Amino acid sequence: MLGLATALVSVAAALPVGHSVEGRTLRPIVLGAAPPAHRLLVVGCIHGNEPAGLPIAHALVRAGRVPGAEIVVLPAANPDGCFGTGTRQNAHGVDLNRNFPSNWARIGRRGSYQWSGPRPLSEPETRYFIRLVAALQPAVTIVFHQHEDVVRAWGESVPTARRFTALLGGVLPYRSMQWPYGTASNWQNHRYRGTASFVVELPAGPVPASLVPRYVRALRELARQGVAR
Ligand SMILES: [Zn+2]
Repeated sequence: MLGLATALVSVAAALPVGHSVEGRTLRPIVLGAAPPAHRLLVVGCIHGNEPAGLPIAHALVRAGRVPGAEIVVLPAANPDGCFGTGTRQNAHGVDLNRNFPSNWARIGRRGSYQWSGPRPLSEPETRYFIRLVAALQPAVTIVFHQHEDVVRAWGESVPTARRFTALLGGVLPYRSMQWPYGTASNWQNHRYRGTASFVVELPAGPVPASLVPRYVRALRELARQGVAR
């Protein structure tokens, strides 16, 4: 038993800490300890004008550990947008979910709604997210967005996203959709084969308080079950 306990030491101590353009701290909260196959990374907000996932992320932290799973919560991957300006982009005006180095393309310019930034990984928040995923190698990553009212995935992540949709019990429909250029999910799908990374597009406005526990339960159960094939 001692050996098993040692093997399940959390990765928390080894996780990187980062800073946004405006100096806000990027630091995940780690619940429990488990091998990567049962490690779930949850991001409450990456587009600052899409904050409805934040209360879900915070409720997930309050719910605590899940036996046999490790849940890592990064409330905001774009703290300047999500906690400061309320804008989609970071403080440089870059749409972080168009700044990842997988299928990147130049989109727009400073001031554009989906500005990709001047080059892939130009932003500290994007570089931090990549270091975090590399350190964790989570089986599943879920990023909350708004407001297309759908659980959305592509490629290898489809079965796991379908599993999560089923665990939600009819709150949102599932749809397979190809990723836009330079997204976090597309990057993880290509960089770490065999893992899943997908997005949950919550409806417009805040999530009703009565539904938050439903999301929390589904996230906890998905962490326990891991990737679907
Ligand atoms: Zn979004």
